[in-house]
Amino acid sequence: MTDNLKKLNRNLSEISAWLKFDKVPWVIAGPCSAETEEQVFSTAREVSKCPYVKVFRAGVWKPRTRPNTFEGVGKVGLQWLRAVKAETLLPTTTEVANAKHIELCLDNDIDILWIGARTTVNPFMVQEIANALKGVDVPVLVKNPINAELGLWLGAIERLYQAGIKKLAAIHRGFSTYVETEYRNSPNWRIPIELKRLLPNLPIICDPSHIGGSRDFIEPISQTALDLGIEGLMIETHIDPDRALSDSKQQIAPKVLIKLLNKLRARNTAITDEDVKAKIARLRTEISHVDSQIIQDLAERFRWVEEIGKLKQQHNISVLQINRWENLLKDHLLKAKKLDLDAEFIKAVFELIHAQAVKRQSTGWPGPLRD
Ligand code: PEP
Ligand code: MN
Repeated sequence: MTDNLKKLNRNLSEISAWLKFDKVPWVIAGPCSAETEEQVFSTAREVSKCPYVKVFRAGVWKPRTRPNTFEGVGKVGLQWLRAVKAETLLPTTTEVANAKHIELCLDNDIDILWIGARTTVNPFMVQEIANALKGVDVPVLVKNPINAELGLWLGAIERLYQAGIKKLAAIHRGFSTYVETEYRNSPNWRIPIELKRLLPNLPIICDPSHIGGSRDFIEPISQTALDLGIEGLMIETHIDPDRALSDSKQQIAPKVLIKLLNKLRARNTAITDEDVKAKIARLRTEISHVDSQIIQDLAERFRWVEEIGKLKQQHNISVLQINRWENLLKDHLLKAKKLDLDAEFIKAVFELIHAQAVKRQSTGWPGPLRD
């Protein structure tokens, strides 16, 4: 971890300084977009009955992919949010993308701001937002960028921190992929896990609505988040989801939300039971032992690779022998199948090992092993 990130991590405000919650998961619920006063109020009244719900969300400026779609009601929606807070006592949050949005949100007592995925990708916009927030004590939630790049996510968090914002959290809403998958945005869990490793004090919130893109996926994705120790969820909730003006397929009704939250199982992030602690420690020792063995085996493998590389060079033989690679892979996949190992996983592991082996034998490998 770089010194800058260490310092940022140390100086982050505890979440308890800006959000009160007594249950896990704690939930930000509300519609994708504020559409009408009635829709906002009826949704808010229903979700406020749920003890897991701690914040009410609604987008008033909507970053739509194509023009001529509903782009939000604009600043009148902020007045509805202010009134929702007065009635339900729920703090409110909305998306901001520029300095004007921030000014209007602060004028209307919006409690928490969030930066959308389409904004996090753009350092100019993030910097404009950070500059507008200098001297303002408001919590900011940073959604991951659309593309699977941790650097942009971290960069946005750093820009806000440098502007003096210490009440920060990250929202994991999945990453866009060119190839269609069952999910709207691929969760790529290793990215939020790496963010957690770099900034352990930064709360992470999972947004299963935008990851899944469909009502059916909200529950399993939320449970995965809880299994990984992610304690906050942002779930799009609409009083009449089928008639929502944006993201209608992924929104759920408040009653469905309440049922779903009651089904989820929160996990303990700390291990308190001494007996369990000892058992886990023993198993971890075994796992670490196997890991050391894997590293030693890899070192040995690459010693042989270097030998073979020298021999190929002496005899002017090309480094890559495609038939050998093809046969090797086939052989490994067959063995993996017998041991009930996932074929895709084993293929990915050996592609990486093989690429490293080719790299070690050749002089002009172009760029990093993987992106
Ligand atoms: C939203 O939360 O409604 C939204 C627009 O999200 P994202 O920025 O993740 O697409
Ligand atoms: Mn949405």
